[in-house]
Amino acid sequence: MAFDTHNHTHFSFDAEMGIQEALQEAARHHLNLVLTEHYDLNERQDDGAPVDFEISNYFETYSAYRGEHLLLGIELGLDNRQDYVARNREIVAAHPFDMVIGSVHNLQDYDMYTDRGKNFLSKQDFFTQYLIYAEHTIHRNPYIDTFGHIDYPCRYLSYSDNVLRYEDFPLLIDNFLSTLIENDICLEINLRLIDQGGFREGLESIVRRYRELGGQYVTIGGDNHGPETIGVKYPLGAAMAKEYKLTPVYFKNRKRIVDEPMN
Ligand SMILES: [Zn+2]
Ligand SMILES: [Zn+2]
Repeated sequence: MAFDTHNHTHFSFDAEMGIQEALQEAARHHLNLVLTEHYDLNERQDDGAPVDFEISNYFETYSAYRGEHLLLGIELGLDNRQDYVARNREIVAAHPFDMVIGSVHNLQDYDMYTDRGKNFLSKQDFFTQYLIYAEHTIHRNPYIDTFGHIDYPCRYLSYSDNVLRYEDFPLLIDNFLSTLIENDICLEINLRLIDQGGFREGLESIVRRYRELGGQYVTIGGDNHGPETIGVKYPLGAAMAKEYKLTPVYFKNRKRIVDEPMN
């Protein structure tokens, strides 16, 4: 069975999902799961609490479930601050994660979700900053396994058209994708927007270019925060990978493993 490689349970500040319901729903859809709980040194919850979880408790709690159908990962918020880079490296080195997603949720102090009403840049300027920043974070954090949701900002922007298309930023997207490929980091096909026409085409334009530049491997992740979305859009992600001859993979003990096709 294939792995959905991006899932949040109640260890994540913004999810309540229990492990039993997650595994049940995944099995119903013939999927396995990698859990990837939020750990963002550069972010705060609304009440000022950190966006993290007790890692030793996470491994203890889920050790009985870990195996054929469940792997234990983390979604790290990437940043260029040297102290955060160092701490993120330590976190990854100190714990037996199966898989590490690196994600850009913030552009330095600008939180793309919380501060979504305070973006006064043009679309051109916003994505220019985002893509340059994302590329830099890969240079600084090359130890990750896959880059999460390149189209994350599209979820929260308020332009008349929030789609990130390859053809609008070809040089910046080429630089970003080439940096992933040079560092042997996968591109994630995040399923959140994949069923929405324009967003799907935007993501597809980037996935297609990743392949053209020599990218081979993708992870497919629902970014599920509750059981109701598990498996629903996975076939769309698998179909996109297949269309561009990309190989879906997951990571176990930080080793890349080719996924079994969906049946
Ligand atoms: Zn994320
Ligand atoms: Zn996530």
